Amino acid sequence: MTSTTAAAPEVAPFQLFDLTVVRTRRLGPSILRITLGGPGSEGFRGGGRDQSLSLLLPRPGQREAVVPAAGGGTWHERWRALPEDERAVLRSYAVRAERPRPDGSTEVDLDFVLHGDGGPASRWARAAAPGDRITVAGPAVADNTAVHFRPPADTDWVLIRADETAPPAAAAVLEWLPAGLPARVWLEVPRTEDRQALNTAAKSRISWLVRSEGAACGVETVRAAALPEGTPYAWIAGEASRLRALRHHLVRERGFAPERVTSTTYWTRGLSEEQARRAGSEAVSAGISSAEHPKAEWVDQVAR
Ligand SMILES: Cc1cc2nc3c(=O)[nH]c(=O)nc-3n(C[C@H](O)[C@H](O)[C@H](O)COP(=O)(O)OP(=O)(O)OC[C@H]3O[C@@H](n4cnc5c(N)ncnc54)[C@H](O)[C@@H]3O)c2cc1C
Repeated sequence: MTSTTAAAPEVAPFQLFDLTVVRTRRLGPSILRITLGGPGSEGFRGGGRDQSLSLLLPRPGQREAVVPAAGGGTWHERWRALPEDERAVLRSYAVRAERPRPDGSTEVDLDFVLHGDGGPASRWARAAAPGDRITVAGPAVADNTAVHFRPPADTDWVLIRADETAPPAAAAVLEWLPAGLPARVWLEVPRTEDRQALNTAAKSRISWLVRSEGAACGVETVRAAALPEGTPYAWIAGEASRLRALRHHLVRERGFAPERVTSTTYWTRGLSEEQARRAGSEAVSAGISSAEHPKAEWVDQVAR
């Protein structure tokens, strides 16, 4: 007699989750934490570190976001098949924390910078209230391509530099780092009260760069620093042009191997996320690499 074992069904790495705003909490003058969860969050499973997800948001003039129906292919393919001028606007956010609940649901904390430029995401966040619904494209398996913080095994120490959009990811990275690993960290925020308590077992030296206090936030801060000895891994995230200057400093002036610098553009001054992504795709189609073009790296970095 032969027996066959049914293979476990393959889980798509990213799925659409219909979530509910559970609570909101102001963390500082510029930052709002929104906790999502409720029925529909079952199966959400991120990889920690700088795990990100995509929010599906209404366009200006829409009351509700136009989201893809269930079906074949990836959620992104189904989203792309919708009319371009109707389909939901996508915005990327880091998963600051993820808590499985006894009822099988999961709570997910997202920390929003309430920037004054009023794009769909910051507009949605300002108005969000418990009970509001939102669809997110999020991870369903922990090892997924929207986790970028991946230090090679021979890393002796870590450098982290984040502007105000990236402390949520940096804080989750710090929680993940092994005990005793040296980490030199710079986190930039608009105001003194935007600083957060951080948890880490790493041997970290953390500097908050507070713009309202006149902190120097350009490449000069890292350039002036004495860095630990040994083989580094750098994770830098924030505004496109500032990242480019910092990456250049690390690779060209400090001699970091390019593959040991993970540089993730979180936003681009003067461009919305889709405008920046389009500029990135055009750069890639024109054969320009992300090392040469500040927007080229957008193409593959988010949850697809
Ligand atoms: C992987 C990833 C993870 C991210 N995680 C976070 C996160 O955890 N928290 C967070 O707050 N952001 C995060 N961001 C950045 C966020 O997605 C962008 O700031 C996004 O552009 C905000 O969308 P929006 O609809 O508010 O503005 P958009 O419609 O995209 O932009 C409208 C205008 O606002 C400007 N703008 C966008 N962001 C800012 C800003 N921060 N300050 C000033 N002007 C801005 C744009 O240049 C544009 O001119 C992340 C981005 C990525 C790629």
